[in-house]
Amino acid sequence: MRRTPRLAAAVLLVPAALALAAGCGREGSPPAKGPRPGDLPSYHVDSGFSLPASPTWTAAHRRGSLVVGVKDDQPYLGERDPATGTYSGFDIEIARMAAASLGFPVDRITFKAIASANRETSLANGQIDLYVGTYTINALRKRQVGFAGPYYLAGQGLLVRSDEHGIGGPRDLAGKKVCSAAGSSSIQRIEADYPDARPVTYDTYSVCVDNLLTYQVDAVTTDDSILLGYAAKAPEEMKVAGRPFSKEPYGIGLSKGDTALRYALDDAVVAHERNGDWKRAYAATLGLSGVPAPTPPPVDRYRGSGA
Ligand code: GLU
Repeated sequence: MRRTPRLAAAVLLVPAALALAAGCGREGSPPAKGPRPGDLPSYHVDSGFSLPASPTWTAAHRRGSLVVGVKDDQPYLGERDPATGTYSGFDIEIARMAAASLGFPVDRITFKAIASANRETSLANGQIDLYVGTYTINALRKRQVGFAGPYYLAGQGLLVRSDEHGIGGPRDLAGKKVCSAAGSSSIQRIEADYPDARPVTYDTYSVCVDNLLTYQVDAVTTDDSILLGYAAKAPEEMKVAGRPFSKEPYGIGLSKGDTALRYALDDAVVAHERNGDWKRAYAATLGLSGVPAPTPPPVDRYRGSGA
């Protein structure tokens, strides 16, 4: 049976990945630990803030908490510690900065893990007030939701096993199984531009990574920011191959019609970039995956619906 050796390999590889994730990184490799709470900035809460023109803000204010959709399995970006239930990562910090500017302190934020495929519906049906989770701003999505920002610029890349030498870019994916999250711009690009690749989709990237480590797929594709985090946690097993082949500007997703909130969030992003919060937050989170802080992209502040 062909599956037996593969499963055996999985049993060997996964504990190795976990050991590295626990902090046993090689010398010279980026630290494999998560953000240290002591390094995280705290943000000035604008307690007098009021935005009656925003239906979302008004409802959240009455409720007494801001509900933010996030990812919970993306190292250094949006990760939930299963032992404590605490969320950490750069997107989580962006959410905290935005909340502080809207008058909500950290204990008034409720994080909800929402998969890539469910972001637009969760925002449209009011299940969440905001979404902060590697969410690329694009024209198609702007038909359904609003975007503040961008607050970060990523690019699509490929994650492969360390012993893989045949995949150096998306053109090498012909005939190969490539895994990504359903509803992501990553899988859409593969399907549109690389029709000879064999796409495989799951709800989350961490399932794709498990599939890579157990030889069920040949590569994982999504933003370099996400892939570098997985690679940094298990550098013996996986590597990011080649160069980024797209531009993925990350926005804060919100209800499409709520322009007052969108502009308030644009202002918040600019303010936290200017006062150094953005840079400090980056250094304490995404910076741990080994990439020095880039200059954040200019905030778009588009007029009308943007469609
Ligand atoms: N940034 C891409 C997207 O929004 C990929 C990452 C993700 O699925 O969150 O689709």
